[in-house]
Amino acid sequence: MVLLIILVTTNCKERGQEANTAANSNPLKETISELKETNKPLYRTSITATDIDFITEQDPDAFKNLDYLKRGTREMPGSDTGDLMDNGAFIFKANFTAGNPVEIWAHSSFGTSNAAKEYAQKLSGRLGKLPLYMRNKLSHVILHKGDSNAFAEDAGGFFVLYSENMDARISTNDLEETVFHETVHVAFDLAHAKSKEWKQAQEKDVTFITEYAQSKPEKEDLAESAIFAYAMIYYPGRLNKNVEDWVRTNIPNRLKFLKKLFEENNSKT
Ligand SMILES: [Zn+2]
Repeated sequence: MVLLIILVTTNCKERGQEANTAANSNPLKETISELKETNKPLYRTSITATDIDFITEQDPDAFKNLDYLKRGTREMPGSDTGDLMDNGAFIFKANFTAGNPVEIWAHSSFGTSNAAKEYAQKLSGRLGKLPLYMRNKLSHVILHKGDSNAFAEDAGGFFVLYSENMDARISTNDLEETVFHETVHVAFDLAHAKSKEWKQAQEKDVTFITEYAQSKPEKEDLAESAIFAYAMIYYPGRLNKNVEDWVRTNIPNRLKFLKKLFEENNSKT
């Protein structure tokens, strides 16, 4: 039976542009008061346009092992061919020391289970670094070959990654952050990204954390803001002091909202 997925696709294409271009126009050179006057976002994007290591190699990793289950027919949106169904997807199950396992479906175009496994393994440790209350909301993750940018389908409970883009993100130490960003979409967008409370926080705050968040306030602001809030709440001092000060000054209501969101979800897990 074919279940056609008609979902809100949260596309993160804007983040796939070249990295490190923010270095020349880093508004941190300016004072916070100047930034407030101009209502200027701090960065172009949260991940590829910053060199911030929000989630580090040393952070706790709950990944235990990866099982290869079988080949099967799965809905695999985002393929090059445009076909939704894939009849030979490689199905893996990532197990963790806490919480639910996460299935990883790699497209049949990987060719062999070993080729698919290489990318499932690259993903697994990054899933292990997610907070449990976020990872538990993932139904599965889809892997395609290719170099397109990641996207999430929040109502379907999954996100999609592309192999060459994964390698590029690994080379810039950004894959953990990409996985975090996409998982925020899955875990929180439906309930919160357009909620009254979030919109009130947006209105009260001075500006947006990134230009990307500003360009899609109901789609990307939550995920873009969340990674800054996560680092500040769980690892105070990890971000540059100027960045932390900027966040507290310019988006304090979003920071407060996200702190509460993380705490509430953590307490329920
Ligand atoms: Zn996004």
